[in-house]
Order: sequence, then structure tokens, then C-alpha cells
Amino acid sequence: MLWVPLSITAAALASAAHASAWPTSQRWGPSYRRLPTDAADIALTFDDGPSNETMRFLDVLDALSVPATFFVCGQNVERQPRTARAILEAGHALGNHTFSHPCLPLCPFVRVQREIARTQDAIAEATGCQVAIFRPPYGLRSPALRDVLPDLGLVGVHWSVIGMDWKWSADRIATRVESRADPGAIVCLHDGQSTRVRTDRTQTIQAVRRIVPNLRNRGFRFVRLPAWQAGL
Ligand SMILES: [Zn+2]
Repeated sequence: MLWVPLSITAAALASAAHASAWPTSQRWGPSYRRLPTDAADIALTFDDGPSNETMRFLDVLDALSVPATFFVCGQNVERQPRTARAILEAGHALGNHTFSHPCLPLCPFVRVQREIARTQDAIAEATGCQVAIFRPPYGLRSPALRDVLPDLGLVGVHWSVIGMDWKWSADRIATRVESRADPGAIVCLHDGQSTRVRTDRTQTIQAVRRIVPNLRNRGFRFVRLPAWQAGL
């Protein structure tokens, strides 16, 4: 009767894949995908920095008076500690995005723990701050996060709108974000590219220049992500 264990295994694998990849799954610890508000607030978040492009983002956000949140990789922070500090000094929030941007479901527990703890240390060394929010690379979780995040005082944050800005043109990115924006939305964009030393984020920057005035005209207010309480 081979079909019984096979079907059980298939169901278990499907369930694990759902917990890993589905943004609303809370099985491996809480992960927020929206702001805790009914107001017309919206949060822009930028992943994979600091990069050679981050200072351009800071200039554009400053010109638009938009606070944002940057999920940084520890390896990038060690390479560019002054840029990590500049993000905070410009009034934005920082979050942890692992050290080397691995696919967490493929990593053993100790690797997950080390990736996240080492990034907390890199951010603290560069900025003097402990951050309280974490976003997994590719949005993919591991069961280890259920223990590792609360131990390090972190809460998981996903997104409700992904900009597809690693492959699309500025207009297409902006159209997608503007059409999916709603009160409490968290938008995921990128100021870097994994842990690469050099990247070109021109399309994302141009999209931000279009998204911000268009959404403000619709009554939206741009906010940083809040520091959700760890261990909820
Ligand atoms: Zn990433």
C-alpha cells in the first residue's frame, strides 16, 4: 500500500511549502504584510542594500519628503557602513534581510541563526542601533524563524505589493504599484541586488518618482514601518 505514505508525504511537503512561501501563513511565526491601520497610510520598503545606488534613493526620497524602510543585508552593511548610517540619519527605518541573502528553506537551523544574528551585529556595529524587523530573502521562510526571530528580538515582515522591479521598466513597476495600493499596503522594491557590489536601480528610482506624487494625489500618506513587538 504505497499510496498512503506517498500521499501523506505529498501533503506534508505541500503544507511545508505553503508555510514557507505563502505570505499570509503564520505557521512559522508571525509575519506582517500590512500596516496596522485603516488610514490611507502606505509604506515603501527597499531590499538588498546598501548598494552603490542607495545614496541616489536617499536623495530622491529626501526631495519627495518620503520616509521609507530599508531591509539590508549584513554583508552589504559591512562593505558600506557609512551608507547604512546615512539611511538612519535621513530619517528612514532599517530592517534585517540576512547576511548573504540565502534561500532560507534550504538552510540548516544554525545557518539561519548565524545569517540573522551576524546581520544584527553588522547593523549595530555600523549604526549603534538594534533593529526589530526582519524580511526573509525572496519572501521564503524556514521553520527555524519561529525560534530565531523572537530570540533576537525580531518580527517578520513581508509585503502586500511586490513591484517586480528586478525585471520590469519604471512605467510597468509604477503601474503595478499604483493599481494595487490600498490603505495599509506595504510595497516591496529594491535599492540593491542581493549582495552584488554594483547594480543599476534606475528603473526603480524612476518608478518611485512617479508613484509618490500619484498616490499622494489619491490621499495616501507615506510612513516608515512600525517596530512591531517581538514575541507576539
Ligand atoms: Zn532580497
